[in-house]
This record gives sequence, C-alpha cells and structure tokens, in this order.
Amino acid sequence: MAGYLELYRRGKLRERVVAALDLLQKCSVCPHKCGVNRLTGERGKCRTGREVVVSSYGPHFGEEAPLVGTYGSGTIFFTNCNLRCIFCQNYSISQLGEGEKVTKEQLAYIMLSLQARACHNINLVSPTHVVPQILEALEIAVQSGLHVPLVYNSGGYDSVETLRLLDGIVDIYMPDMKYDDERTAKELSGVENYASINRAAVREMHRQVGDLQIDRYGVAQRGLLVRHLVLPNGLAGTRGIVDFLSKEISRNTYLNIMAQYRPCYRASEVPGLARPISAEEYQEALWLAKQAGLMRLDERHPVEILRLRRE
Ligand code: SF4
Repeated sequence: MAGYLELYRRGKLRERVVAALDLLQKCSVCPHKCGVNRLTGERGKCRTGREVVVSSYGPHFGEEAPLVGTYGSGTIFFTNCNLRCIFCQNYSISQLGEGEKVTKEQLAYIMLSLQARACHNINLVSPTHVVPQILEALEIAVQSGLHVPLVYNSGGYDSVETLRLLDGIVDIYMPDMKYDDERTAKELSGVENYASINRAAVREMHRQVGDLQIDRYGVAQRGLLVRHLVLPNGLAGTRGIVDFLSKEISRNTYLNIMAQYRPCYRASEVPGLARPISAEEYQEALWLAKQAGLMRLDERHPVEILRLRRE
C-alpha cells in the first residue's frame, strides 16, 4: 500500500500540503533558496511560478525494470528544472519551457489516468521545484482512489527540509548522483555545492525508505534507486560516488550506472564532453562499483548500451 494513503487516513496529508505551499511564499523549495514569492507569480532559477507545467505523461517502458514491470511506469514529465546541465538531453523541456500549464485538478486526473492504464507507479520526473503543487494534486487524486506508489525521480539537488515533508508520501526515491566534485558541478550544471547537497539528500531519502524492495513479480514497491550517468573523461567522479554509497548508505543500494551519455545541447562548449563514453569507460565504472562492494547494479547488456547510445 502506498505510504500516502496512511497519511491521508490519519488526516496528516493536508498538513503537509499547507506546509509545502508555505515554502512558495519566500521560495525555499529547493537548495537554491531564491526567496521569491511564487504565490504571486514571481520566478526564481527554476523559472516556475505558482503554476505547474507538464511536458508529457504516459506509460514508460524505458525506465529500470523494477519500475516498468509489465504495464509500464506512469511517468509525468515536469517542465523546467532547478539544474542547468549543459548536456541535458531534454533541454527543450528543462531549459526552454516546453509544456502546458495544468491545474491541480488536471494533474490529479493525469495521475489517476496513469493508474487506470495499469501503470505500476506514478513516476514524477523532475519534481523538485514543484513539490508543493504535486502534493496539492495528490490530495485530490487520493480522494478519487489513487493508490499506486509514488516515485520521486529527481536530479538529486533536493533540500532535506523539503524531503522531510515527503516522508511517508514518497514510496520510491530515484535521485541522480551526477558529480563527486563541486567545481565540475558548478561548471556543467550551474549549481553550488551539488555534491554535498546531493549526499545529504540521498542520506535523507534512504533514511525514509531504505533499500529498494521488489515484490515477487519483480516490481519495486518501496526504497531507494540511484542513477549515475557516466560522463567522458571521468567528469562524473564515479569512484567517489560509489564509495559514498557503499560506505555511507548501503552496499545493498540499487544503482543504475548509465551508459547513454551523448553530447547534447551546449555540451560542445566543454572539450571533455564532446564525445560519447567509450565501452572501456563504462566497464571501468562498473568495476569501480563492484570494487566498492556494491551488490545491486542495474547492468545493461552491451547490445542495449549501443542501442541507448544511438537513440
Ligand atoms: S524551487 Fe525554484 S524558485 Fe524555489 S528555490 Fe528552487 S530554483 Fe528557486
């Protein structure tokens, strides 16, 4: 049973909605802490005001197998982002604002429609900057029968204070761990202190939900699933990230080491990013994770890696 149902039954979901909306007044929803009043339409670094903008939604079969199951993961792609990754593959959505404004009732309807299509979960993609709006919609959707697990699929630049409001609501956390080095994060994603903020967020997520639990049908029900995209020339700092996960989170962390990097958007501005990763770089990343003692790696078959890199 999804955690938010219990919270709703105890009358606590409303309190979380109110507390989250309060963050918008002097926005501190994410670690940027822009301080703008989004309730009156002001915008900070995520370029999002009171509204929520959705670029697309539907059953998705390209996510990790425990999320996809038989009928797909019910993804909702939110427009805009609190990161500025110069190699973003979805930059028209994350940076250029492609999408449609939706009301809280429409967002609730989207969640319910994905459940009605038998999706195993509601997969909130880039949710960080719209957590309050998501909670408002969730409250409506629960009243109309939503019951599948919620997946929080973020770039990993999340504030612990906001994550605490999601305790008992989010069932599956799926953060990126993009960088081990603050200067690289600043150069490639335009954010301060990514590595330290990201680690604090992953600690909080794991404290709430623990290691990933998969049911007898192979479908994830609760827990932490980390994504790490390997960048060319070691720019993602894989060694530091896998050591952190192994020593400070759990050797049983479900980790997807991703191979599909290809130069997109403004990646050509940085010489080290101007090519896909090599097979050797990917194998080395896997090796580092195994050397660190991590036991649950979402390894892709080499043929699939080639396919992902062509897409
Ligand atoms: S959610 Fe947006 S406005 Fe709020 S602190 Fe983050 S970037 Fe700034």
